[in-house]
Amino acid sequence: MMDKVECVVIGAGVVGLAVARALALGGREVMVLEASGAIGTGTSSRSSEVIHAGLYYPEGSLKARLCVQGRQLLYAYCAERGVPHRRCGKLLVATSSEQLPALQAIHTRAAVNGVHDLVWLTAEQARAMEPELRCVAALLSPSTGIVDSHGLMLALQGDLENAGGLVALNSPVISADCAASDGIVLDAAGTPLLADVVVNAAGLHAAALAGRFAGFSAIHVPRAYFAKGNYFTLAGRAPFGRLIYPAPEAAGLGVHLTLDLGGQARFGPDVEWVQTPDDLMVNPARGDAFYAEVRKYWPGLPDGALMPGYAGIRPKIHGPGAPQTDFVIQGPADHGMRGLVNLFGIESPGLTSCLAIASHVAGLV
Ligand SMILES: Cc1cc2nc3c(=O)[nH]c(=O)nc-3n(C[C@H](O)[C@H](O)[C@H](O)COP(=O)(O)OP(=O)(O)OC[C@H]3O[C@@H](n4cnc5c(N)ncnc54)[C@H](O)[C@@H]3O)c2cc1C
Repeated sequence: MMDKVECVVIGAGVVGLAVARALALGGREVMVLEASGAIGTGTSSRSSEVIHAGLYYPEGSLKARLCVQGRQLLYAYCAERGVPHRRCGKLLVATSSEQLPALQAIHTRAAVNGVHDLVWLTAEQARAMEPELRCVAALLSPSTGIVDSHGLMLALQGDLENAGGLVALNSPVISADCAASDGIVLDAAGTPLLADVVVNAAGLHAAALAGRFAGFSAIHVPRAYFAKGNYFTLAGRAPFGRLIYPAPEAAGLGVHLTLDLGGQARFGPDVEWVQTPDDLMVNPARGDAFYAEVRKYWPGLPDGALMPGYAGIRPKIHGPGAPQTDFVIQGPADHGMRGLVNLFGIESPGLTSCLAIASHVAGLV
């Protein structure tokens, strides 16, 4: 007889764990199958760890909605569960008058998305807050913050386990048969497992995995692209107390300054399109371009102060130069397969949105 479990979540990143927790708190039997030997070894431990306010995303998009909801849920959850975090605020800066319309557009879009706490600052007001900053104007986002993403994932796993769920490590899902009569049959590292509900939260591998689901139409599987983001850390004391973001670029949010909870400053991520989801080495030569970018807003960056840090890869579903896409969260109403939810393109603000994504997914099954 084949083993059976009510719900399987594939992938123990922050999104998979949040979804599994929501399903378990809803009274369902849940197992998370994780390919690697620990939770959160994918994109979830390679981000900027920023709790985004929800400024940038198109009106009505899942990113806009789930980021604003998710941010509120996340602050409340971190406070309740003692997950380290800090509402440090962020300054979005225009370093030339040509960038002012871009900031104005973000201000307008933020209001449409329900973010009403942005404050315009003159260059003098911004410098009074951050004396080392150079800009012609700035927008202060008081509700932007930072979070210990690993602490968050441990808390989510704890809730899941307290509700009777479990995480199985070293358990890669190889394929699935979605057309079986009594549920979805997974091939979990050679062991067949029958499930009523399967949530594919495999991050960078979600599209490739869905491509191996028998009975699942290829028209619902987007093409995966990988946009690496490299970080460089700053030797010495952080020059700013808040996060500093330039006006955003095409595929990312620009080389910004973020802080971790220990006060270490890092710059990044840049955008480097790569062929595979495991190309995670930081090429030190890319640091050269960082100096010019960072000095636009921090002229005091000393020569030789940046050291290669780490890299994360954005699970993109659009290629270089193509317009940004929304999160794709496909439930049975979208693809016709009972019990199956696929999560594609869960790039930033996926960490911020994880709790809101989780309740959205729970609502689909
Ligand atoms: C450079 C960068 C910076 C970012 N900064 C921010 C930020 O500041 N704020 C923010 O809100 N968001 C940010 N994000 C986005 C955020 O990190 C992601 O949206 C989020 O971590 C995605 O989580 P996940 O659980 O979907 O994916 P992952 O963390 O990648 O988890 C997927 C898991 O699935 C497992 N897996 C894969 N294939 C299989 C399989 N076949 N079987 C079983 N398990 C499998 C993997 O091992 C992995 O553990 C950033 C992303 C990047 C790349």
